[in-house]
Amino acid sequence: MKRDDERTGEERRRGRSTLGVHAGMPEPVPGAPVVPPLVQSATFFGGMPGQELRYSRYGNNPNQESVGEKVAALEGAEAGLLLASGMGATAMSVLAHLESGDHVVASRHLYGTTAELLGRELPRRGIRTTFVDPARGGDVWEEALEDRTRLLFLEIPTNPTLRVFDPRPVAELARERGLLTAVDATFASPVNLRPVEHGVDLVIHSATKYLGGHSDLVAGVVCGSRERIDAVRRAMKLYGPAPDPHTAWLLDRGLRTLDVRVRRQNETALALARWLGEQEGVSAVLYPGLEDHPDHALAAELLDGFGGMLSLILEGGGDAADAFVRALEVALVAPSLGGVETLVSQPRYTSQRDQSPEERAAAGIPDGFVRISVGVEDLDDLRADFRRGLDAARGGS
Ligand SMILES: *Cc1c(COP(=O)(O)O)cnc(C)c1O
Repeated sequence: MKRDDERTGEERRRGRSTLGVHAGMPEPVPGAPVVPPLVQSATFFGGMPGQELRYSRYGNNPNQESVGEKVAALEGAEAGLLLASGMGATAMSVLAHLESGDHVVASRHLYGTTAELLGRELPRRGIRTTFVDPARGGDVWEEALEDRTRLLFLEIPTNPTLRVFDPRPVAELARERGLLTAVDATFASPVNLRPVEHGVDLVIHSATKYLGGHSDLVAGVVCGSRERIDAVRRAMKLYGPAPDPHTAWLLDRGLRTLDVRVRRQNETALALARWLGEQEGVSAVLYPGLEDHPDHALAAELLDGFGGMLSLILEGGGDAADAFVRALEVALVAPSLGGVETLVSQPRYTSQRDQSPEERAAAGIPDGFVRISVGVEDLDDLRADFRRGLDAARGGS
């Protein structure tokens, strides 16, 4: 296994499909297995003077290490660390770098549990967050800075309205002021966006989603400089959200097809978004690849693909959305995203269930809002499925 500073220039420049298959893999020696074995061992021989201590909570099990390497290569980052969940990655990243009295400025367009961590849990530990709306543009980040601000945090693209915000001015402001930036790029995956290329310090993923890609594991990843990642590793060692070796092994398997899966999902989602926009009963389709999306120009510049997530708003409101979802035979009704199977959910029953209908509507998520995580099924079958859903929605509204 090679560390980033040992990789040759050519290895670093390899394409993402190649990196997804080969990065972080052991040297190919005759007789060794082509697929790295699952090292289902909590501990390892050693512990005498001069010997490295290996223990699976330290994150240095071979499966954990190789998958961290692979994701770092895909992100173009120096180092990467696998954790037990996306929330583990976010929580450890914050706790590793901030202390009591410090302050965070975060986008208000956040995954619900991240918003709860920053807004309700961390204040109990003396770390406060000011939430800003990057959609307002201008100097929202700068205006929210305080003496003790240490971290600027945002998500690209956002859930479930799929806004795309520019990380570059945020990273530039952070550089000027000596602050840290973190981007949760779960919805983009490194196929579509690599925030490190835009000056971001820490890139966080729920590997449960696109990186794993098969809805069969829960894991998180954080990538950045070796120094930053070592700090997160230390927090993981102390607080304990280390991944099981089997999860690391499964994630590696998923990463081998990340590029082909996400490219297919990009293509299918764009085709579906265009088609859905032409159908009766649909009042809006939210997808960064559509010309009428508020961030389309930025998304076209920043992203290599517009992603596999799209949302639609049905004219018939909540009843129409219920009928739509019930009529589907290919797409499955479930929370989560990023897997090979198409999943649909209504935020009013999932991520936004604690808000009132008025609060949701004000946030651009009225009743009738359906979020779709496009899988890798055939476009024709998905189109036929959504046709069924739309017919039912119009009958049932
Ligand atoms: C799912 C998700 C998370 C949390 O990840 P877990 O693996 O469920 O802990 C964080 N951010 C985003 C954008 C997500 O979609």
